[in-house]
Amino acid sequence: MPSYVNPEKCDGCKALDKTACQHICPNDLMVLDKTTSKAYNRDPAMCWECYNCVKICQPQAVDVRGYADFVPMGASVVPLRSTDSIMWTVKFRNGNIKRFKFPIRTTPEGKAVPDGGFGSEGDINSPLLFTEPASLGLSKLATLSK
Ligand code: SF4
Ligand code: SF4
Repeated sequence: MPSYVNPEKCDGCKALDKTACQHICPNDLMVLDKTTSKAYNRDPAMCWECYNCVKICQPQAVDVRGYADFVPMGASVVPLRSTDSIMWTVKFRNGNIKRFKFPIRTTPEGKAVPDGGFGSEGDINSPLLFTEPASLGLSKLATLSK
């Protein structure tokens, strides 16, 4: 089932130019109704159920019904993010609650290198993949000569 926004919890990300759910959705589905300051999924049929909007929404206003393989009886699935892990709380319809905690990063917060180190090597604009040209068995990429 696609994502949906609980309007009672959504605060429209307050004064942000672009809401967090708009920023994160890989399918560009979330939009903000500027008259109500509430977000909504504009095309539920196109939702991948990737949970990105669910995880990023601070007031936990977005919900997606869990996939049948891990919540076969239906349940609410609520993430709580911290700086190094995410805690999923699954509440089943019979009242049972299960919690799962997973690490979400291997680099301490604030220590990630935005360009992955490529910029300092001067090759961020190179058409080569990371292992090339060595993985192609070449010493350098062939180029057209004029
Ligand atoms: S991220 Fe959450 S609070 Fe912000 S606009 Fe989207 S649904 Fe609303
Ligand atoms: S679950 Fe994923 S694809 Fe669906 S609206 Fe949220 S971010 Fe977009």
